[in-house]
Amino acid sequence: MLQQTQVATVIDYYNRWMQKWPTLQALAAASLEEVNELWAGLGYYSRGKRLQEAARKVVSELAGRMPRTAEDLQRLLPGVGRYTAGAIASISFGQATGVVDGNVIRVLCRLRCIGADTSSLAVIDCLWNMANTLVDRSRPGDFNQALMELGATVCTPKSPLCGECPVKEHCHAWRRVEKELASASQKLFGKTTLVPDVEDYGTGDCLLCLPAAELWDSSLGVTNFPRKAAKKQPRVERTATCVLERRGHLGVPEYLIVQRPSSGLLAGLWEFPSFPLAPGLQEEQQKEVLADHLQAWTRQPVQTQSLCFVGEVVHIFSHIHQTYVVYSLCLDGDLVLDAASSPSRWVTEEEFRASAVSTAMKKVLKAREAQRGAQSSRGKVGSTAACAGLPCALLEHKDLGLHWELPSLEQGDMPGRLSPWFP
Ligand code: SF4
Repeated sequence: MLQQTQVATVIDYYNRWMQKWPTLQALAAASLEEVNELWAGLGYYSRGKRLQEAARKVVSELAGRMPRTAEDLQRLLPGVGRYTAGAIASISFGQATGVVDGNVIRVLCRLRCIGADTSSLAVIDCLWNMANTLVDRSRPGDFNQALMELGATVCTPKSPLCGECPVKEHCHAWRRVEKELASASQKLFGKTTLVPDVEDYGTGDCLLCLPAAELWDSSLGVTNFPRKAAKKQPRVERTATCVLERRGHLGVPEYLIVQRPSSGLLAGLWEFPSFPLAPGLQEEQQKEVLADHLQAWTRQPVQTQSLCFVGEVVHIFSHIHQTYVVYSLCLDGDLVLDAASSPSRWVTEEEFRASAVSTAMKKVLKAREAQRGAQSSRGKVGSTAACAGLPCALLEHKDLGLHWELPSLEQGDMPGRLSPWFP
């Protein structure tokens, strides 16, 4: 859970997880649906799925015994990479093996003035060798946790607390800053400059030094290390999403959600029906795409005019800048869905929130509710009434001098017919 996620966010999830599945056997017996439900909101959903797959493998193929070395953990369990294997083996089983995560990379790069691109395999291998060499043989778990904690609390990305750092005497980046300060003060008093250190010239072919094109920047001090890797731009995607609604039991709104495929992004999670949009489509074209998809899927005609634009919801995944273009469509009666399509079900708002849905979909529902709230407080129904599958009704605020217009409904019908939609 802590991979890519902060402790403060994880604590609640961890406690609920351990309460529900205190043993590997309990986790192995759970369904992916339950795992996704508990994981909902934590992001990077494949972690939960893999955790459960690993538990199943330990129970069914390894006689309930966890592998105890980093090599076996990585080799035998799905989703266990080099870092996770090292962390489990050293912390849980006392194996003298190092760990390299983002915090450790930063500390080691500063300790040894490593300025090369840390996303390169050669540099990563070198850092692993260093971590494996440095690790304390008698207390590897404590050592590794201390190193990670040092990076998280003292040797932080932007404001390292070098003055309080317990390893500053060993830190080459700190020494370099000290040397520069000493040299500057000598110059100030007209003394000769110190003889430069041979390490300050390590910009030739060295695999680990700052490249010659990116020389040391005095204003950055120790934060010259690690060098920032060029950030990969996230992919830009647009998706048309439709909040399909109907009046359920006692007029309570219900929403149709469908399950995503069991692999890929947000695998196995539930969402409002969503379809990819080609770039550059205008609103009318987007509606046509959505209506076509819904029509094929629900096997009933869907008019573009009945789709109500709700707004755009942006969600940033680690590698995708996703914009959900949200529409709502209110139905009168049930739907027969294409049998070949994904599993689907109707849920109330409460059930929706308890389901395995992503944070992005919660934002989509919030946008739809905000729109309904705004319409309700303005007293303006307009096209929303039409999309409720009811005869077209236009309702404006009487204080503004406007009026009700009910082409095919008696005015007395309105509260009963519309109140479930506009509470
Ligand atoms: Fe990090 Fe500063 Fe400590 Fe070096 S002295 S390890 S740069 S906090």
